[in-house]
Amino acid sequence: MAPDAAARPTRAELRLAAREQSRVQRRGAAKAATRAALFRVAIPSVAALGVAGAAAVTVIQDEAGRVPAQASAADAPDNTAAKAAAQQAVAAGDPAQASRSDARQPLAGAQPTDTPTAQPTPQAAPQPKVVMPVAQHGLGELFGAAGTHWANRHTGIDFPVDGGSEVMAVTDGTIRTQWNPFYGYMSILKMPDGTEAWYCHLRGYKIRKGPVKQGDVIAFVGSSGNSTGPHLHFEIRPPGSGPVDPLPWFLSNGLDPR
Ligand SMILES: [Zn+2]
Repeated sequence: MAPDAAARPTRAELRLAAREQSRVQRRGAAKAATRAALFRVAIPSVAALGVAGAAAVTVIQDEAGRVPAQASAADAPDNTAAKAAAQQAVAAGDPAQASRSDARQPLAGAQPTDTPTAQPTPQAAPQPKVVMPVAQHGLGELFGAAGTHWANRHTGIDFPVDGGSEVMAVTDGTIRTQWNPFYGYMSILKMPDGTEAWYCHLRGYKIRKGPVKQGDVIAFVGSSGNSTGPHLHFEIRPPGSGPVDPLPWFLSNGLDPR
């Protein structure tokens, strides 16, 4: 295949891109549903307070405690916004909510205890510094394996994924792409510390050149170059060094790709 043929997205890649887009949209919808749920939580809290008086303050605190524990950090600002919207709805005297109007004062009094930041975050595992280069965990050939179709030893690790699978930037960095008779179509991600990640045997590129963010889709798995079937061959090359075993590199950055 001529290099330029890989530059144009194939139908399969366009389909992949469309699927990705709809997935993102669904994710957005799920988030909106979460916000709606939080909104509903806020309203019964107001009602409970009006009916049960001082005893209900404890209930409000418990609910406030559970809501942030379930919501992700990214949802926290939305949670606050949903509560503010709920209060506005009550204050606006919506006829559907007339029975709750007597809760205005107690709600204002309870407000200071109702902050999402009051609860400590439940022991979150340390955030990995890198992400998977493909969606699916699991490794094929490991670093250093001897094989008939490698000149010497295996200089990377293989991810046994289908042709056309998306390939992601493991960190922020800068992309360049090139053809090599052995590696086929390659994407090379240069990280801020100078380390390079090599993605090899690709079918095509999504990003040919320039800065990328961690997790960005940069290319698609293929079997170009000296390869017996679709997979991602992945190498880690520290500055001024040849290839090193990517597995300990992943593990030292908090991610187990196996
Ligand atoms: Zn390989």
